[in-house]
Amino acid sequence: MKIAFFEVQDWEEEFLEYFKKEFKDNFFFTKEKLNSFNADNFKDFEIVSVFIYSNLNKECLEKLSSLKFIATRSTGFDHIDTKECKRRKIYVSNVPSYGEKSVAEFTFALILSFYKKILEATSRTKEGDFSINGLMSRDLNEKTLGILGTGKIGTHVAKIAKAFGMKVLAYDIKKNLKGVKYVSLNELLSKSDIISLHLPLNERTKHIINKENISIIKRGALIVNTARGGLIETRALLEGIEKEIISGALLDVLEEEPLIREESQIIDKDFNKKELSSLLFNHILLNKKNIFITPHCAFYSKEAIKKIEETTLINIKRFLAKKPVNLIR
Ligand code: NAD
Repeated sequence: MKIAFFEVQDWEEEFLEYFKKEFKDNFFFTKEKLNSFNADNFKDFEIVSVFIYSNLNKECLEKLSSLKFIATRSTGFDHIDTKECKRRKIYVSNVPSYGEKSVAEFTFALILSFYKKILEATSRTKEGDFSINGLMSRDLNEKTLGILGTGKIGTHVAKIAKAFGMKVLAYDIKKNLKGVKYVSLNELLSKSDIISLHLPLNERTKHIINKENISIIKRGALIVNTARGGLIETRALLEGIEKEIISGALLDVLEEEPLIREESQIIDKDFNKKELSSLLFNHILLNKKNIFITPHCAFYSKEAIKKIEETTLINIKRFLAKKPVNLIR
């Protein structure tokens, strides 16, 4: 069998060693994307592995006449015509999840940095100031955490919160998580000391925190958004800060971020980081002392990236053993 990897990043080359050894001359890798323009060069390859910038549409698949298996190194698969794959009996596997624990931990890293004044304390000692004036912190124990979205990430956030002795309120269309109290959105906003967002962005969730409900939020609450910027109406957030309804906002994502299909897109060169940083720098939010902004990096842990590689390796090995897993049907 011949195997080809496309859109290979520098940090993936080590992971490809296995395939180099196993497939020898039948192994190929490139930084290029796979699409209908170059597919003719790969017509004798049975396995391809791609990321989200390749375009495996009908025209491309027609040219890949030997293709039996696609291993996409992503969760999303809208760059692959899966109907055409089914018609052509081509199996497709993805990486169903990789970063939920990383994002949950990052959420608490943000909360703890803010509550415990870590940034302020460390920058002061670097300047030789060892006084503790103004560094009185706050405890999470007994505080109420309101989680919007108790899916993969929200579930881990709830687990961590409980370990800190926090009370957990939740809001979700599905009430799947045991041990948390599901309440209405307004009740969650009015009773939580910390509000953490873990919802997908769609027509129903866009601006779920907005001008109308910002005033319902418990006075002094902290807002944490590691999900999608569009969940919060930025103007309402600023208003909440200015009126001191909200004591702080910890944002790994911003409303102005261009459309991001999935997190690993951010580490790809094609993602326009310059555009994002100029937006960030122009942004009024950046200048507020009680707003922490991180560059959409909650998912980006060594372990999460390793999981993408490990899952892809398993996907390919299991296909070769005729027992495919993580199939997109
Ligand atoms: P998930 O699909 O597992 O969970 C989402 C939850 O939201 C589900 O429980 C669902 O029932 C609920 N939900 C959907 N629509 C709703 C609505 N209209 N009202 C109430 N609840 C609704 O998703 P996840 O993997 O936990 O990810 C959550 C968010 O985090 C996503 O927006 C994702 O893109 C984002 N994310 C961010 C990073 C990062 O690096 N910052 C990394 C991974 C994911």
